[in-house]
Amino acid sequence: MAPLDLAVLRGRLPSNPITRFAPSPTGYLHLGHVANAVYVWGVTRALGGRVLLRVEDHDRGRSRPEYEAAALEDLEWLGLAPDLGSPAELRRGASTHRQSDCDAVYRAALEKLAASAPVYGCDCSRKDIAAEGGDTADQETRYSGRCRERGLAPTGARGIRVMLEPGMERFTDALLGPVTQAPSEQCGDLLLRDRTGNWTYQFAVVADDGRHGVDLVIRGEDLLPSTGRQVRLSRMLGRERPPVFLHHPLLRKEDGAKLSKSSGDTGIRELRQAGASPETVLGRAAWLAGVVDAVRPVAAEELGSLFSDEAR
Ligand code: GLU
Repeated sequence: MAPLDLAVLRGRLPSNPITRFAPSPTGYLHLGHVANAVYVWGVTRALGGRVLLRVEDHDRGRSRPEYEAAALEDLEWLGLAPDLGSPAELRRGASTHRQSDCDAVYRAALEKLAASAPVYGCDCSRKDIAAEGGDTADQETRYSGRCRERGLAPTGARGIRVMLEPGMERFTDALLGPVTQAPSEQCGDLLLRDRTGNWTYQFAVVADDGRHGVDLVIRGEDLLPSTGRQVRLSRMLGRERPPVFLHHPLLRKEDGAKLSKSSGDTGIRELRQAGASPETVLGRAAWLAGVVDAVRPVAAEELGSLFSDEAR
């Protein structure tokens, strides 16, 4: 049985939501992505919503067009068709569903943010921040606010940050229940654009979820620490109702290591080359995610029924 009982969770979830599948093309898709897709398509179909596809290539240094091409091909092979933003549209050229094509969107969002919150230039390197003792126990780098009062313009080869007021963010994760986080303690003033001109994940994803009308974010638990700051930022950007979040467990290998894009044995390409069918791959991911009780083939069209009330 799925770890997620929609009959119980329905009150916490929007009906007819817009959700998104948002891979970063920094490697090939692996079973962890497919498990996320099982949740995204499954829950969305069960709730009568729409899945939006977004290529999150905000990090231009690590993203590669060949990884994007491969991800689109793998999704098609798996039969996972998005309702908003199609692989065909992305292949045609510039798209509002590809972050690297949306510089103007992030510039406009930055302008909006700067009108109501202190935004400032920052020339600190990662090393500077670490040297100030900015690494917190959970390995996250907390920015001390060193450049806050220096009056550096947010231009040129400087990073751009926004001041985060102290205080808690409270939200209810659809699966985990009430969560409380203190963004200013976790990460300090949030980096929006780095010194090389890359928009950061935190900023781009919040601006995108806002403009795309995403009202339900379904993603792995590894991103839970980012959620409080994303809720805060989305309010700062003028969104009255931030999305509902549902964080699902990550897949683990037997040794407990998190699946990574470098794990050859879990890459969708490798599984395809070894002769696996799309249904076998979806079924294995659904089982590893705890969504089905036993390994069996699962077709993309079936995903909604794995989560729907009638299935139980
Ligand atoms: N692009 C991110 C990733 O591939 C997902 C971001 C998110 O779900 O917020 O890990």
